[in-house]
Amino acid sequence: MATGNFSLLAAAARRLEGKVALITGGASGIGESTARLFSKHGAKVVIADVQDDLAESVCRDLSPSSTSFVHCDVTKEEDVKNAVQTATNKYGKLDIMMNNAGIVGMVDFEQVIRVNLVGAFLGIKHAARVMIPAGKGSIFNTASVCSTIGGVAPHAYTSSKHGLVGLVRNTAVELGQHGIRVNCVSPYIVATPLARELFKLDDDKLHGAYSNLKGGVLKAEDIAEAALYLGSDESKYVSGHNLLVDGGFTILNAGFCMFEQA
Ligand code: NAD
Repeated sequence: MATGNFSLLAAAARRLEGKVALITGGASGIGESTARLFSKHGAKVVIADVQDDLAESVCRDLSPSSTSFVHCDVTKEEDVKNAVQTATNKYGKLDIMMNNAGIVGMVDFEQVIRVNLVGAFLGIKHAARVMIPAGKGSIFNTASVCSTIGGVAPHAYTSSKHGLVGLVRNTAVELGQHGIRVNCVSPYIVATPLARELFKLDDDKLHGAYSNLKGGVLKAEDIAEAALYLGSDESKYVSGHNLLVDGGFTILNAGFCMFEQA
């Protein structure tokens, strides 16, 4: 499987050839899919997560020579610093930082902010420290449709995701002076452990329940494609942006719609 991934794409079509990427929350769901796609596109990938066994099995499934795991709780600054150091020690540099680790957390407001927002801040801080001397880099956070609208998730989650957009805008301004881009990718519902915990629905109902765009199902792989764009040089002048991958969900007010809703 691992070596097969590499042969699937001709070298010329590999959009991340020679790049090094660090992905927090890369053991599962959107982060895992992104790790797989990045690897297929020629990147060296470091997965930083708290689920050691799962992350190690993803690494084993990909090429062991170009994929690594580092245990990292994104709420702990030393762990984040160590994850960035692991990537640079192992592969010589860091081109892409995806701050993707996230929780829903129904009861502990502060823990949700610590993981989803402070964790991303620490990721940006330590990635920037190695990207600034290089004069380039792409950092992006996995936010959510909850970064732009209310009423979809608990207060803490929505607050954390709104916060990510502010964080991206501020850091994009500061780090743009050093050639570093900072963005968000904001998914609609994807059937992952996190979404199952939040909505408590079967996978088939999970997607169809609220979507605007009918006929397709949003998958983790689709978010990985958006991440690939943000990580690659194809987005070289995109910074401070919140890339919504939501089928138009956030532009619709279902309670006041002149078009017939399914
Ligand atoms: P997931 O549960 O499959 O993956 C989340 C990953 O984050 C897991 O591997 C988990 O171990 C890791 N993680 C949790 N706490 C951590 C910590 N303290 N340190 C390091 N890693 C930690 O869920 P997912 O849906 O793939 O979530 C990825 C991101 O996408 C999250 O930020 C989430 O908020 C966001 N998101 C998901 C959806 C969705 O519908 N699934 C929609 C919008 C945004």
